[in-house]
This record gives sequence, C-alpha cells and structure tokens, in this order.
Amino acid sequence: MTSARSVPAPKNGVMDIAAYVPGKETAPGVERVYKLSSNETPLGPSPSAVKALTHVLDHLEIYPDGASNALRDAIADVYGLNPANILCGNGSDELLGLLCQTYLSPGDEGIFSEHGFLVYKIQITGAGAVPVSVPETDCRANVDAILDAVTERTRIVFLANPNNPTGTYIPVDEVRRLQAGLPGNVLLVLDAAYAEYVRRNDYESGIELVSGSDNVVMTRTFSKIYGLAGLRIGWIYAPAAVIDALNRIRGPFNVNAAAIAAGAAAMRDRDHVERAIAHNEDWRSRLTSGFEALGLTVTPSVGNFLLVHFDGTAKSAEEADAFLTSCGFVLRRVTAYGFPNALRMTVGSQEANEGVLAALKDFMEQA
Ligand SMILES: *Cc1c(COP(=O)(O)O)cnc(C)c1O
Repeated sequence: MTSARSVPAPKNGVMDIAAYVPGKETAPGVERVYKLSSNETPLGPSPSAVKALTHVLDHLEIYPDGASNALRDAIADVYGLNPANILCGNGSDELLGLLCQTYLSPGDEGIFSEHGFLVYKIQITGAGAVPVSVPETDCRANVDAILDAVTERTRIVFLANPNNPTGTYIPVDEVRRLQAGLPGNVLLVLDAAYAEYVRRNDYESGIELVSGSDNVVMTRTFSKIYGLAGLRIGWIYAPAAVIDALNRIRGPFNVNAAAIAAGAAAMRDRDHVERAIAHNEDWRSRLTSGFEALGLTVTPSVGNFLLVHFDGTAKSAEEADAFLTSCGFVLRRVTAYGFPNALRMTVGSQEANEGVLAALKDFMEQA
C-alpha cells in the first residue's frame, strides 16, 4: 500500500547512528595551529610516497587497478604474506564497514569494548545489527567480559589492539584466549591501526593468529605511522574465504590510483617508519612524565597518543581544551568515548610537544 505522504525512509538502524565527529582542526584566531587531535604523524609521509604521486598525476583519466596489485605486493613483500590474503580499502574504516555489511544480518549482534573505536558501533548499527558494548578493566579490553557477552546471535567481535583512545593493548596470549573461546562462526576483527608503534615482546598484531585460524582478520592503516591519512588507505589480512566475500561486495575501484602508488612506495620505505617509531618512543615517555609532573594521570600507552585525565585536579578537561586551543594546540575531547574529563593528545613534533607541556603548566598553575 502506498500513501501520498510517504517519503523514502532509511533502513532500520541508520537513524540510530550518532554520526562520527572527527577531531577539531582549527583554533580560531590563532596563527600557528598544531593539530594533535587525530593521531597523525608529525613526520609526514615518506618523500618517496610523495614522489610516486607525480607519475599518477599525468594519467588521471585512467581507472586505477581494481585489485590494487602494486600495493598488495608491497605489503606482502614487507610482511612476508601471500598477497591473495590481502585486500586494500579506502582507509581501514571502509574495511570495517564492509565486514559488517558482509557478516551481519538484522538482529545479529556485534561486540566491541566500552572505550573502543566509535566506528565499530556505527558500522554494526548501520548493518541493522545490535551493538553490544562490553565493560573494560582499567581502560583495557577484558577478554572474560567479551566472552561472557557472546550469544547465539553474535557474529562479529571488534578489538582494537592497541585501542584508541586509551592506548592500551592486550598481550598475544590474551588475544589467543579470546579467539579460542569464540564459536567458530564468530569473526574476530583485530584492528591494528597502531601496531607499528608497539614495542612490547608480548604483543602481536594479529598476523600469526590470522594465518592459523579461519575466523580471525586483521586490519591495518596507512593513516597513522605512514602519514597518508589524506589519501585514505587501509588493508586487511584475512583467510581466503573472507577475502572472497569482501571482494564481491566492495566497490570495483575502491582504492584510488594515487593511494595505490603512494602506499606502495611508503610501505617500502622502512627507514621512514623506523624514524617515526624512534621519535614516538622518545616523546611518548617525555610527555607522560611531563603530564604526571603536573599532577595529571596518564593511561599507559603503547600508541602514538596519550589519554590524559584531569580527575583529582582542580581543573577540567573542558577548560584545559579551551585554554590549549587558545594557544594553538588542538587536542581531542573524548567524551563520546566515555571520558568526559580527559583529553587525548597525539605525540607531535618536538615544538608541539614542548609547547603543550609549557601551556598546560601555565594552565594548571592558574588560580
Ligand atoms: C585511526 C584509526 C583507524 C584508521 O582508520 P583509516 O580509515 O584507515 O584512516 C582504524 N582504527 C582505529 C582504532 C584508529 O584509531
């Protein structure tokens, strides 16, 4: 039956989504702005990635390679993987969405942890499925709580390891225990967007687990340590059956030509990655002790960002954010992640990091 007044309505779930709000970019009225709100690298991309773009610009009339072969080959070479188990996407966000569209039907359930990346809930809901948030312990994913939340309707479990915005991780034994406890028909998605930054012996990004099981996938991104967030490139390492399904549902040219060329060059520049790791190691610990010296609490981070808590001080995150923004330092409010009184700061350049520490010192000392 049709009614004269009916209008197109989004399918169930879509209007339940709270749209993702990206980190701020500007500080009105301030000349020099340091954007420390989206975990971008202060080193920028590899110069060879930028150079690779010039060849692409001469032939923008040509469709990209729909299979992203050059990019998949570069990733496969560096990690020693079979390129047949790799699929590239328009940022890993696209891949997270494709996984939900592929594996979730209306009424199914998708699990993520309390302070997990917001995109999981958005994509689960958009697929018409039920988002299930599981409590964390000390800002860390709790494997027992996740396993307790699994029901007959569960089809997907998202785990960011390390997690954003907390910066915490769970060791490989815990990830294995999670996989072992899940029914075989539940897909475990290990989002390893910050894996390159982790320097811990008990950490594994997911490559081993994917290789050894049928229900685990790992997503990675070029947006963070590779400095190519603006080009939108992500990849997934997955069993052949998952790659086959995703290849049917994805857009035929989902990765653009610039992304393929620059991504492949960036992946092969390992020196650039090493420089970024060294810079991050140095400044993450200096910033952590600097914040602690001001009486602030910092969640121990293995990523390229810090979650700084204002609880127990006379100041609030909201006031601190306003003050820092007025000085040109744009950090991230994390209320939507369940931290109304904390700010997330990306490890920036030396100038940015020293500037934030100095500004925050002034702010904390204000009466
Ligand atoms: C930044 C980030 C991503 C990367 O998203 P892209 O779409 O590849 O830019 C994925 N997962 C988490 C947890 C992130 O913080």
